[in-house]
Amino acid sequence: MTVAETLAAHTAEVPDFPKAGVLFKDFNPLFAAPAAFAEVLEDIAGRWRGQVDVVAGVEARGFILGAPLAQRMDIGFVPIRKVGKLPGETVSCEYDLEYGSAVVEVAADAFADAHRVLLVDDVLATGGTAAAACELIERAGGRIAGIEMLLELRFLAGRDKLDGYVVNAIQVD
Ligand code: AMP
Repeated sequence: MTVAETLAAHTAEVPDFPKAGVLFKDFNPLFAAPAAFAEVLEDIAGRWRGQVDVVAGVEARGFILGAPLAQRMDIGFVPIRKVGKLPGETVSCEYDLEYGSAVVEVAADAFADAHRVLLVDDVLATGGTAAAACELIERAGGRIAGIEMLLELRFLAGRDKLDGYVVNAIQVD
């Protein structure tokens, strides 16, 4: 089995969640299957081991992926959180959603000793979240070495918002 086949075999698709017209990709079956989860993480780790100083993950599924990925590469993990969750000094970035906006934050000193950052999340959809995370990381002094997503919804063209970055993802229509 290829990694793409393993991932497909452990991804549930939920129509019209969280709202009508969205085909939600649910990775809970992957998280519940240790061998398959390890295979997917090792695929990512193998591309980046020794080339990045830290993994950053976006709340919430970027945490589930990013923390064990960082452990596997023997480097640290930095959480990018929704606004108001982090103590101490933070850097924040606001970005547009379909309706309204959202704010993500990171600890101001998160990249003080770890400059090459691997950004991780589960799904690249419109790209708004990832673009905001990249801006945030750079403002906080990090440099994006690459972006890893499990899946990319090609029809939403999120990659266009990430021009100039290395983006790895399994593409689906
Ligand atoms: P976006 O900012 O539009 O690229 O959306 C990315 C965020 O929304 C990611 O953190 C995903 O977890 C979530 N997301 C967007 N679309 C889906 C989908 N079809 N299935 C699962 N998660 C999604």
